[in-house]
Amino acid sequence: MSDCIFCEIVAGKIPATVVLETAEVLAFRDVSPQAPTHVLIIPREHYDNLTSLVTHNPELAAKVFTAASDVAVLEGLEGGYRVVSNIGDDGGQSVDHMHLHVLGGRSLTWPPG
Ligand code: 5GP
Ligand code: ZN
Repeated sequence: MSDCIFCEIVAGKIPATVVLETAEVLAFRDVSPQAPTHVLIIPREHYDNLTSLVTHNPELAAKVFTAASDVAVLEGLEGGYRVVSNIGDDGGQSVDHMHLHVLGGRSLTWPPG
């Protein structure tokens, strides 16, 4: 999709620190980390948000969630971690390419703001 920064990362046009990649999923470090581990998990194919992905391609959604769990293992987050997907304006979504945040490496507070 044009004008999508995550599609540009998938295409290799914007650099990213990749921590896991499969044929369909990419995981890379957030450019503005909010915790010692802050990794974004995305489907290579563009979907606007979680609802769009689940509606159109639930099998791919399962692979994205599996990658989030795999990243937590790779990052050594035995103490626990958080998986978040912000959706739409009220959810605070700033990049309209579906992604999961994997956050860990410190004690996380609840609820988020
Ligand atoms: P959202 O606010 O949509 O839930 O999350 C978007 C995330 O993407 C933010 O945490 C932001 O720091 C991250 N981000 C925005 N632009 C880039 C970029 O060019 N590279 C990387 N690695 N992360 C980005
Ligand atoms: Zn995209």
